Amino acid sequence: MKETRKREFPLHYAKGKKMFHIIVHMSDTPGSLSAILTDLGKRVNIIGLSSYALTDGTAMFTAFAEALNQKETPKTLKGAIDKLGASLEAEVAEGRKGLLVDTYHTGIQVGGDEYLLLRREGLSGVFDHIVRIFGTGGEVLLYEEGKALGHDNAEKLTKELGEMAVDEAAYIDRALTAQGWGVVESSTTPGSKDFTIKVDDCFECSGKGSPRKGCDFLRGYYEGSVETARGFKPKVEETECRLRGDKGCAFRVRS
Ligand SMILES: [Zn+2]
Repeated sequence: MKETRKREFPLHYAKGKKMFHIIVHMSDTPGSLSAILTDLGKRVNIIGLSSYALTDGTAMFTAFAEALNQKETPKTLKGAIDKLGASLEAEVAEGRKGLLVDTYHTGIQVGGDEYLLLRREGLSGVFDHIVRIFGTGGEVLLYEEGKALGHDNAEKLTKELGEMAVDEAAYIDRALTAQGWGVVESSTTPGSKDFTIKVDDCFECSGKGSPRKGCDFLRGYYEGSVETARGFKPKVEETECRLRGDKGCAFRVRS
């Protein structure tokens, strides 16, 4: 199947549509989710949904949905969900003139860590701004910040996964792809001290009109990450970069 970006819904605008945010705390038993979906399917058109298990044996279901019937209200929708045995508690919020904002969630959690969403172009623009103000000093700053984050992430992963953090490094790198950093393909193997990490559609150079000449943050990131996870001081060079007219970015890691 063709790879694609995952859709998230902190905000959605569909001009003139009657939109609902549906949140259901449900029992985590087989059939709960399908019972809720079957019932909601008759009342709304679901635009996006997510469901996740909680540690207490229950689960959450949340969806952004468009009303099929203009008479539908948060009260009627909640009433219908409350009647389902699978639902422990439900909340339905209506959008405003087609605009729907998730006012329930307070952030994103990945494993035991808290995350935030940022626009890729926005962050790339922040990096541009740093280099416009500080010149080459800004490039060094980005490299150092990347290195600090790479070190921090590798330390965390090594603590959690032990030797797997190195043995499965190329596989783990794909988690950055899922998080939107870019399409990462690494040629690394557990003992290797000379390998290449290709990053297509890299976030760092996703903006337009950048004054930068390379992805210094990511170069630093891989340097910090490899140093911490593998215990040797690597030299990381960005051999290809979109900021220099290449099709993608590539980082060569050597000891
Ligand atoms: Zn680059």
